[in-house]
Amino acid sequence: MICRTPAATTKDQEVKLAAAKANRDSDVLIVVDIQNDFCPSGALAVPRGDEVVPIVNRLGKTFRNVVLTQDWHPAEHLSFASAHPGHAPYDTIAMPYGPQVLWPDHCVQGTPGAAFHSGLHIPHAGLVIRKGIDRTIDSYSALYENDRATPTGLTGYLRERGIKRLFLAGLALDFCVRYSAEDAVREGFAVVVIEDACRGIDVQGSVAATRLSFAALGVPCIGELAAAG
Ligand SMILES: [Zn+2]
Repeated sequence: MICRTPAATTKDQEVKLAAAKANRDSDVLIVVDIQNDFCPSGALAVPRGDEVVPIVNRLGKTFRNVVLTQDWHPAEHLSFASAHPGHAPYDTIAMPYGPQVLWPDHCVQGTPGAAFHSGLHIPHAGLVIRKGIDRTIDSYSALYENDRATPTGLTGYLRERGIKRLFLAGLALDFCVRYSAEDAVREGFAVVVIEDACRGIDVQGSVAATRLSFAALGVPCIGELAAAG
């Protein structure tokens, strides 16, 4: 995929230079939700989601610090359409914390669908953070649940480790990657999205909204080679 924000080329060059010179000790690669249920034939498949696996594996080798995230819901999670009689997947309902898209049942704790894609191979990843574990609230972001107020704990981990800049890759671009990027900016981290290491699901214009959000926040979208520095 190509980042279509007007300033993409300039930002790409800037970030490429910055990445090449960076002290990698303060960078982290966040690998978002590369799980069976988000890959083709999974319960909530992101189109071509499995294509990012070899890209992310290559990227992983260029980062000393890597965090994996894992969507990890109890059965009957309230983000599942099946928990709301009369509603279908991809409907949007009002939850106490705001609008919530309803999804097919997915990434139920301990099931094969919740496992990482078998091809994902980043053995030196230092942390796996599981999210969406509270039945009553969804968690797209790796940093905050969907109320944008309840922390997952990742921010504290990153701060204690001296991390200054997050490179984001994974699934899906327009939900968990987007929310993670927005929350990380809000927390004061530098944020870069490695767009060819992401795939979108595109519900109700969500990919276009994501591009607008990244442009408004000044989050650059770069390619694998630029991110590898
Ligand atoms: Zn989920």
